[in-house]
Amino acid sequence: MKRPIIISGPCSAETEEQTIITCTKLAETQKVDILRAGIWKPRTNPESFEGVGELGLMWLTTAKRITGLPIAIEVANAEHTHKALEYGVDYIWIGARTTVNPFYVKEIANVLKGTKVKVLIKNPINPDISLWSGAIERIAHARGIENIWLVHRGFSAYGYSEYRNTPLWYLIFDIRRQFPDMKILCDPSHICGNRENLLNISQIAADLNYDGLMIESHICPTAAWSDANQQITPNELKILLDALKWRDVNNDNSIFSYSLSKFRSEIDQIDSDMFELLSRRMKLAEEIGRIKLQSNVSIFQGQRWINVVERILSRANRLNLSATFIRDVLDAVHAESINRQNEIMNKKK
Ligand code: PEP
Ligand code: MN
Repeated sequence: MKRPIIISGPCSAETEEQTIITCTKLAETQKVDILRAGIWKPRTNPESFEGVGELGLMWLTTAKRITGLPIAIEVANAEHTHKALEYGVDYIWIGARTTVNPFYVKEIANVLKGTKVKVLIKNPINPDISLWSGAIERIAHARGIENIWLVHRGFSAYGYSEYRNTPLWYLIFDIRRQFPDMKILCDPSHICGNRENLLNISQIAADLNYDGLMIESHICPTAAWSDANQQITPNELKILLDALKWRDVNNDNSIFSYSLSKFRSEIDQIDSDMFELLSRRMKLAEEIGRIKLQSNVSIFQGQRWINVVERILSRANRLNLSATFIRDVLDAVHAESINRQNEIMNKKK
């Protein structure tokens, strides 16, 4: 399969006309490999549009016949999965609200036993990687690992966020480490929740070596019955895909390889030095724990912590490090240091 794999289509199939025109226009761009549409929509609000159901499967089958492109729908239970198989759907995806629920994943897996349909598993809505890997393993048991792809659609967060679903890119490295042979796609539409950021998020996914993108597209995005803020027209999708740079995953050029390994060995040395220093710092924290215990002094002294942070923050410019990064590192170091003192003072290590 080519890289990038592009999946596109409306958030929801709404009418026959909207589904078929969107899909044929997407096919005309010659950039889209798989057509998508939601036909059963898991909505937060019961008043929202909940999808057209089986009718949508008929429209998508027509779109497949006209364009020659494979089709994908979301399934959330055994009944949906039976219907998808009955209509010869080529790809099914398990949505974020279903990945969280082992009961539903299990019943979908049971229907999939021995079938050929390809399965895409979106990350769960909450940042719990083991829930995601559990769902992947359940489906892999039923279907074999080869035809499972992963879809990163971001994680919901409490309070204000610039994203609809925060990407938390570093969590995705964990799942890729666990399933190194599985393709992973990014769904910038549900990460952004708007049109403006789609290119930016798609470019990050390309630079992190994702295998493709799932992007929602609609002939008239502002009139869409679901996710109107984030959909783009087929023509806008073409412009976005033309602007994206998919760089090589690797390069055999000897000058490049030599420079890369030289920089990497320096980085490895710095990592070793950094952790030797951190180990020494933790030994000192334990010594402090011992004397605080002897003198009956509490672990945390607010003013000292403010001083530690301010001392390093005042060097942020000279070090060319952002204040957020300095805070994150110091918070992690401080948390470990408190753990060590707690071990000494309360568990008598
Ligand atoms: C969708 O792709 O339309 C969808 C509902 O996605 P998610 O499960 O990521 O919210
Ligand atoms: Mn959607």
